[in-house]
Order: sequence, then C-alpha cells, then structure tokens
Amino acid sequence: MFNKRIKIKTLLQSEPAGQEVTVMGWVRTFRNNQFIALNDGSTNANLQVVLELGAFDETTLKRLTTSASVKVTGTVIPSLGKGQKLEVKATSLEVLGDSDAEKYPLQPKKHSLEFLRENAHLRFRTNTFGSVFRLRHALAFAVHKFYNEKGFVYMHTPIITASDAEGAGEMFRVTTLPFDETPRNEDGTVNFKEDFFGRSTNLTVSGQLEGELGATAFGEIYTFGPTFRAENSNTARHLAEFWMIEPEMAFYDLEDNMNLAEEFIKYIIQYAMDNNREDLEFLAQRLQEEEKSLPQDKRSEMGLIEKLEFVLNNAFERLTYTEAIEILRESNHNKKKKFQYPITGWGMDLQSEHERYLVEKHFKKPVILTNYPKEIKAFYMRQNDDGKTVAAMDILAPGIGEIVGGSQREERMEKLLARMEEMHIPAEELWWYLDTRRFGTVPHAGFGLGFERMVQFVTGMGNIRDVIAFPRTPKTAEF
Ligand code: ATP
Ligand code: MN
Repeated sequence: MFNKRIKIKTLLQSEPAGQEVTVMGWVRTFRNNQFIALNDGSTNANLQVVLELGAFDETTLKRLTTSASVKVTGTVIPSLGKGQKLEVKATSLEVLGDSDAEKYPLQPKKHSLEFLRENAHLRFRTNTFGSVFRLRHALAFAVHKFYNEKGFVYMHTPIITASDAEGAGEMFRVTTLPFDETPRNEDGTVNFKEDFFGRSTNLTVSGQLEGELGATAFGEIYTFGPTFRAENSNTARHLAEFWMIEPEMAFYDLEDNMNLAEEFIKYIIQYAMDNNREDLEFLAQRLQEEEKSLPQDKRSEMGLIEKLEFVLNNAFERLTYTEAIEILRESNHNKKKKFQYPITGWGMDLQSEHERYLVEKHFKKPVILTNYPKEIKAFYMRQNDDGKTVAAMDILAPGIGEIVGGSQREERMEKLLARMEEMHIPAEELWWYLDTRRFGTVPHAGFGLGFERMVQFVTGMGNIRDVIAFPRTPKTAEF
C-alpha cells in the first residue's frame, strides 16, 4: 500500500511528540538546502520539513524545486521557527515527480488573477485558489446537508432538454447533424427528424419545470447541477456554464419561499464560517490587500468576515418592486442623473446598477424584492390579484446583485394557460408540465440560486471566473 500518509492539516493540529509520520505533497519553496515548505492541498499552511545538512545527497536536493512532488518520512518535533508549532525532521525523502523550475509557470511570488486564469490548470496550487476551492466544496456540501436535514429529495433533472419554452436565456443546441450537409425539409428548414433524438434539443437553462414535477409528488425537492446559457454577457457575474440550486416546494406560498431562501443562504454561510475559518481569514486578508490600491470610497466598508457575520445576524430587507422603484426614483443618485439607465417609472426592468444601489447604498444589506410587473417575468409565475404583478422574488446581495430568482408558481390552470397564450408559449409542447395542474394541483413555489454567485459572495472574489474551476465564457473554453 502506497498511501499511508497523514494530511498536513491534520498533522498541524497534533502535538509534536517525536512520532513518526509520512507526508506527501508539492514543494512550495526549498531554502538553505535545509527547509522544505511542503503543501498537500489540505490547507494553505505549509509543513516545514527539515533536512539535516549532509544527510541527503546533492542530486536529490537539486530536485527539490517548486512544485516537485515528494514523499517524506520523519519525526514530528517542536519547531523553533516562528509561525509554526511543529516540523518534521526527515529520515527519508523521495522525489515522486520532478518539476522543471525553468518551465514551471507559477513562481513563488504574487501573480495577478488574470495570469492565473490563463493558467487555470495550475492555479489550484496557489493559496488564493486553494482557499476558494476548498470553500466551494464546503458550500456545496452544506447545500446537500441543509436540504437533507429538511427532508428534501435531491433530484437530477436532465442536462439535455427538448423544451425551449422556459425563456430563461439563450440556449446551446445539442445535435449530431452534420454541418456541411445538413438535412433539410422541402421548405428549407433543418430536418431535425434526422437528428439524434429525432427533434431539436438543447442544453438546459434551468431544471425548474422538471423540478415542479418532483415537488408535486415528493412535496419538497431540490436540484443542484450545471445549467447553460449562451448569453453574450461578458460580465464578472455571468458564465455560459454555471451551477444552480433549484428547490421546488409544494404547499409553499411566496412568503414561505422567501423564508426558506433566507434560511438556506444563512445556513451555508454559517457552515463555511464554522468549518473553513482559516480559508475565510486568508481571503479576507487577500481582499483587504487588493482593496488597498483602490480609492477610499471604492473600498468595502466591512471586511469579508464582518460582512458575512452581518448577513448572518440581520434579517434581509423585504420590499415590493413598486416600493423599490419609488426609492430609486426619489434617490439623489437618480435626480443627479448618475444612473446609466434613468428610472423611467413603473414597469421597467431593474438593471444591475439599480439593484446594487438598493443593496449597497440604500439598505446596506441583502434585499428581497417581490411582486414584479408580470411583463418582465416568466409565464409560470403566479398572477397577483392586482392584474399587474406576479408573485416573484429576487434576492439581491451586496457586491453581487441578483443571487436568487424565484416565485410562487401559477397553480391555476386557466390562468396559466391564458398567460402562456399571451406570451406565445406553445401549450402542446409543455403538455407534461401542465399535467401537474391537471392532476391534483397545489400552491407551490421555488427558486434558483446561482452557486458561483454565492461562492463569490462568501469568498469575496470579484470575478465569477475565479470561483469555478474551468470557466466557460464567450470565446473561452480552454482546459
Ligand atoms: P441576471 O439578471 O443576473 O442575468 P437572471 O434573471 O437571468 O439573472 P435567473 O434566470 O433567475 O437569472 O437564474 C437564477 C439565478 O441563477 C440567478 O439569480 C443567478 O444567481 C444565477 N445566474 C443566472 N444567470 C447566470 C449566469 N449567466 N452565470 C452565473 N449565474 C447565473
Ligand atoms: Mn440573465
């Protein structure tokens, strides 16, 4: 058996009592022909491995370059160096894999996030990305823990779908048809009967519609999977491939929906605070450093951890779309014409500058906006009695903007059909969806939380490309 090792994180928490251990990892630095800073990815903290002078031959020592992989066996002793309680005095040392120092792209110094994006295949070996991706893992785990504790069923909705009616975004087509000799119908349109599925198919933009089928059988379900949008928005908050968590619950109204979403967000943040404190502290420090170069008024008012604590300890602000428009219209920001898109009045869609004004300048905390005009929302949202609005809710977070989009769903068949007709959504194609309303319809609700935006919020990373391992954005699909 090869893997009889202790992880560095565990080792660093133990007491140095002369015990023998084996560790394996990658060399971060090697100095004075004596001290290896060894990292194995379990924590940003490196283990100091001490090589007694003269105990190892020169050729082996020469191979201890940055990112070379090694196996070390030795005894755990108290460390005299500062910043660490223990170190390992090596009794045996084996280089598992060499790393050519001349060619290794990451030097033991600070690299820009842009540079690291171009080296996304190696960036996990840096402290910043070590912390980000351990946190991403913790948050994903907390998502499952939260819903499992509440008795929700985890449902895997399809990645390839035939429905193109949802309208959440532009879709990527899935096809096996040849490009050059595309089979055509007499009228010149593409003959999808010849395609793999015998019809036109796409990558899913959301698992919601299928999720509703689950909710109206299990009561409460959630999905957690990749979704795809071919939207050409080159922003720090949009990806072409992102992960979404979509809970869908029978017997919930809009308020139940908001309560669940708020509890959920707080739960996963709390989980990260309890279990990944070191990584959060590292990222808080990183953010503070990064913001030093910004003018005072562009810096965050709170540190990362303070911000998360603040979110945990305060109720989200809840208000209607109509109230939000009033606040925006009356704001000095608007009166001084500082919005790129001025507030023209009720009915307009909110731009991210408006959302950010509400959360960052006005309320200074997460905000839940409800009851949007039906014209700017999807067909399945429940129509309010005023005839103008739907029971939608968006959650807006400081620094991010929209993090959750959800609604109570229209459970009344006639109302749903009427809205679909108005919006030119073919009812025949969604016959299976409409069956939920035909057979034992119930009040129900749900929402979608963009996982990467949540990871951004918790890690303080400004660009969404830095919280997913291999970002997919317009004109980039490297790795
Ligand atoms: P936005 O207005 O920010 O583009 P949206 O209204 O298109 O968002 P929804 O369709 O409601 O978003 O999707 C639900 C959630 O998924 C959003 O609240 C957001 O957190 C996330 N999300 C949406 N589009 C993207 C994207 N392209 N990349 C990453 N996350 C996204
Ligand atoms: Mn969008």
